[in-house]
Amino acid sequence: MPVKLGIVGVGKIARDQHLPVIAASGDFELVAAASRHAQVDGVRNFTSLAEMLDAAPEVEAVSLCTPPVGRADDARRALARGVHVLLEKPPTATLSEAHELVAAAEAAQVTLYASWHSRFAPAVPAARSWLRDRAVRGARITWMEDVRVWHPGQDWIFAPGGLGVFDPGINALSIVTHILPQPFALRAARLAFPANRQGPIAAELSFQDVLGAPIAAELDFLHTGVQRWDIEVETDGGRLTLSKGGTEMAIDGEVQPVVPGAGRPHAEYEPLYAHFAALIAAGRSDVDLTPLRHVADAFMLGERVAAPAFDF
Ligand code: NAP
Repeated sequence: MPVKLGIVGVGKIARDQHLPVIAASGDFELVAAASRHAQVDGVRNFTSLAEMLDAAPEVEAVSLCTPPVGRADDARRALARGVHVLLEKPPTATLSEAHELVAAAEAAQVTLYASWHSRFAPAVPAARSWLRDRAVRGARITWMEDVRVWHPGQDWIFAPGGLGVFDPGINALSIVTHILPQPFALRAARLAFPANRQGPIAAELSFQDVLGAPIAAELDFLHTGVQRWDIEVETDGGRLTLSKGGTEMAIDGEVQPVVPGAGRPHAEYEPLYAHFAALIAAGRSDVDLTPLRHVADAFMLGERVAAPAFDF
């Protein structure tokens, strides 16, 4: 029997990915939606999760696709009712909220899944296995996109807790924390804040892994022209390049055979929902907070520089 699912926060990612993937999934049946303004055809609609939980007790799981601030409140509500929870990335606005949710899910004995969609990008598994037995000498993340193209009018991104350029940048961190064989920690950071905004619009980060290899990241939200979501890793056995957000992989400049699924519009969210279903079936949770921890470290340690005011 498919798990009866409610979706919360019907915005861009809910429409682009969650709704079509759920509709095509045999594991889930969408029965309800909660959004202050938007509605989903063919299911019961509510303006808040609290209303949904009261009026639709058949809901067994929810996907929270709202912005990160406030998401933990919804997650706590759902977990307290014994409802499984999928969190969009970043899982919560703070690390403490995330830890509280882990404890709440354990207490309620339900599944909590902090999803990282970029970890399901088609070339990521091959990159992870290629790197597993190699010594990393250094890595470079280049995540440069145009916020006006990808997040038009999303003022929440630059509000406190919205993470600014780390909203996409955390996707890069979710990949490198998954594929690099050694853990790493932030050593220095420089964050550029527009005069009229609370979130950074660009960031330069320097990490070091436990064996001393440097990992640099350049994140830019004002990049026009060719958009770049690239990760390069120098190893004792050659150079790995993951490009297009983890869709393509090259070794020493030679593009590797395209992996099955590359280029499909829902290549990341199909396996993401399959994983959520498997977690529910196994009675397990999956909450890796490492990418969020690195972002928190950048806000703690980063030098702040002023950038020109930004308007969409
Ligand atoms: P979005 O287009 O702004 O949609 C979020 C929806 O949440 C809004 O349409 C809004 O619907 C609802 N909402 C509830 N409280 C809100 C608040 N305080 N401020 C703004 N909206 C609020 O955002 P999104 O791009 O879908 O991103 C949502 C989450 O998914 C973020 O954490 C983001 O990082 C993640 N994500 C986004 C993408 C992407 O490509 N955009 C990709 C992967 C993951 P109502 O007004 O109807 O309540």
